[in-house]
Amino acid sequence: MTIRGAVQGVGFRPFIYRLAMELGLCGWVINSSAGVWIEIEGERARLEEFLLRVEREKPAISFIQSLESSYADPVGYTEFEIRKSDGSEAKSALVLPDIATCAECAAEIFDPANRRFGYPFTNCTNCGPRYTIIESLPYDRPRTTMREFTMCAECAREYGDPANRRFHAQPNACPKCGPQLELWTMAGEVTARREAALEAAAEAIGAGKIVGVKGLGGFHLMCDARSEAAVMELRRRKHREEKPFALMFPSMEAVREECEISPLEERLLRSPESPIVLLMRRGSAAKLAAAVAPGNPMLGAMLPYTPLHHLLMRRLGFAVVATSGNLSDEPICIDEREALERLRGIADLLLVHDRPILRHVDDSIVRVMAGREMVMRRARGFAPLPVMVEHELPALLGVGAQQKNAVALAVGRQVFLSQHIGDLETAESGAAFERVIASLESLYESRPETIACDLHPNYLATEYAQRLSTHPVGVQHHYAHVLACMAENDLKPPVLGVAWDGSGYGPDGTVWGGEFLKIDECGYTRAARLRCFRLPGSERAVREPRRCGLSLLHEALGEQALGNEALPAVEAFPAGERRIVTAMLRQGLNSPWTSSMGRLFDAVASLIGVRQFARHEGQAAMELEWLAARDTSDESYDFELTECPTLAAKNAANPSTGSGQAMGHQAVRELDWAPMVRAIVAEHGSGVTPERIARRFHNSLAEMIACVAVNCGLPVALSGGCFQNRLLTELTIARLEREGIRVYWHQRVPPNDGGIALGQVLGAARAVSHICQKKADMGHQQ
Ligand SMILES: [Zn+2]
Ligand SMILES: [Zn+2]
Ligand SMILES: [Zn+2]
Repeated sequence: MTIRGAVQGVGFRPFIYRLAMELGLCGWVINSSAGVWIEIEGERARLEEFLLRVEREKPAISFIQSLESSYADPVGYTEFEIRKSDGSEAKSALVLPDIATCAECAAEIFDPANRRFGYPFTNCTNCGPRYTIIESLPYDRPRTTMREFTMCAECAREYGDPANRRFHAQPNACPKCGPQLELWTMAGEVTARREAALEAAAEAIGAGKIVGVKGLGGFHLMCDARSEAAVMELRRRKHREEKPFALMFPSMEAVREECEISPLEERLLRSPESPIVLLMRRGSAAKLAAAVAPGNPMLGAMLPYTPLHHLLMRRLGFAVVATSGNLSDEPICIDEREALERLRGIADLLLVHDRPILRHVDDSIVRVMAGREMVMRRARGFAPLPVMVEHELPALLGVGAQQKNAVALAVGRQVFLSQHIGDLETAESGAAFERVIASLESLYESRPETIACDLHPNYLATEYAQRLSTHPVGVQHHYAHVLACMAENDLKPPVLGVAWDGSGYGPDGTVWGGEFLKIDECGYTRAARLRCFRLPGSERAVREPRRCGLSLLHEALGEQALGNEALPAVEAFPAGERRIVTAMLRQGLNSPWTSSMGRLFDAVASLIGVRQFARHEGQAAMELEWLAARDTSDESYDFELTECPTLAAKNAANPSTGSGQAMGHQAVRELDWAPMVRAIVAEHGSGVTPERIARRFHNSLAEMIACVAVNCGLPVALSGGCFQNRLLTELTIARLEREGIRVYWHQRVPPNDGGIALGQVLGAARAVSHICQKKADMGHQQ
């Protein structure tokens, strides 16, 4: 555990010692410049209790600003000790993330006798904005966007008093001297100020309007989550069809009315990071509009995390949609003048303030999986905290992938992960990407010598790397996924990486995505992959699972199956379109080969009639997961682990496509799903429920991983977007543990492409290191 905040010199270490003793846990605690580090070992249930009690029972004058934890391998400690800090560690200033309002500040704004009663910008040393307002280090008021506000005498006294909670609280402010609210029309007219602005915004939301609210790291679009009409209107204006909206609830009790909450999930909701937590819905007592998360058994829920949100939610008393203030896939809007343009036609009103936001930071998203938290979007509360690595790294920048882009900067042994930037497809997101890089580099005064990027030549991030550097280091997408997982789990090679996602550029010209990579000291070899199939129409096959369905039928059952209209994937096409796609598959026209697990999920969803068109990324896979979670079968389908690269033979017979030319050079073992597909088609035809088929499909995937892993005999690292699927991840972990195989997965760094930049940095570090270079010359590295 790494704990940052007011945890030094406040009796924190003795407290940790006593708690560990009481719970019979072993390990150690140490103070370092980066915070308090704890390694603790013991029974699972005791560890969970420890984690919860640290926050609940900590010394009264201590304050936790950030707590990051992850599970590691047992060491075999026999006692618990307070270790002495040797002081040798370089003092490196850290920029802290933004911290949710603390209990004391929350109490003050609701206390009529307090001078900060009703003040939406209340903060103290323990809470409030950091990363969103800081221009450069060291963290002092003149280097933040608060420099425009001169503290009044009373605030200045607090700021200068070592005994005060606001001693050196850089954003310290009060109603007399600090930022203020205004309510704007979309023409930029101010219609109300201060409390009246808040009141009017609350009224508008209550009346079914959509209000753009300037918060901590950008604008939210808010509307009444109970109102079907308001939520539908927001979907229409935001061009967002079915992707679920995140919700802000007025209280924990209000969340509980809608969702199941475990103690760990409750901890997350209340934590200083205060992320969106994905929770299972209760189903019955729902007061929410169906359009909030159509057909979705889960909800993304968060609690108020700034005084402004506390005040607004207290007034409203009901849950609101709180989605990023942007058009779909663009970065969140941070400036009120910009909002007039960008949110025009989306918001009815803007609730704004005059504290500038220096950089956009979205809400983070976390899901609990296998009893641990998994960060799926790393932004507010987490960014820009570093991941510590074992060895000193050269100055390196990883520019990430195309989707869910985030960048990473290596400084010494720390890799700073940027906040989530988004999909690099619009000019807006491209500009945000460059801004984030510039600001990370200037914060840490680092001029990276080496830039690491994806191998995909058309990714915007790759083009950027090529523009900036004559020798960018290309790191294969799935290799980067696995390295990221290894880094956060402190894993040393050799390791078997299982990288399953939607797509990534393969050096052989095919689309990779169902990969088993053996990681050695310097590089990787492809130990196995999913049997390839075609993506008819390329990008269109990503939006239309029915195309993958047809392709799988073509591979597993032959072309005659594409005439059988009893099959849902076939029936999903009008006859004319079906003839075209069939011809594409036959001739390999605009139909690249892929080994993508994400597309295999799409295909199976299509084959059992669950989804033929995807409205957002990963939709079909999520629906299969939910179906499977409702069944308990432990059976799986047959598949084969073959030795031969069949693709080379196929391409030889069909030279016009030219997609898989390089496949034959190395024997890659292949997981052949054809027997499974035939069984799924037969079972669906004989009336087996989609729930059961989906469950057996998930079981089969865990079996596939176990099959390759047993063959390899190495510890396994799970990475890639497919492992956002809780059922798949939990089944795989259990299955591998049954075989006695060590298994690791993501916790603090997203398994999806949001974690790629970290892996790129490490891949490039390996590539530029001298020893590895030598081996590469000898032909070791792919
Ligand atoms: Zn506070
Ligand atoms: Zn003041
Ligand atoms: Zn990926």
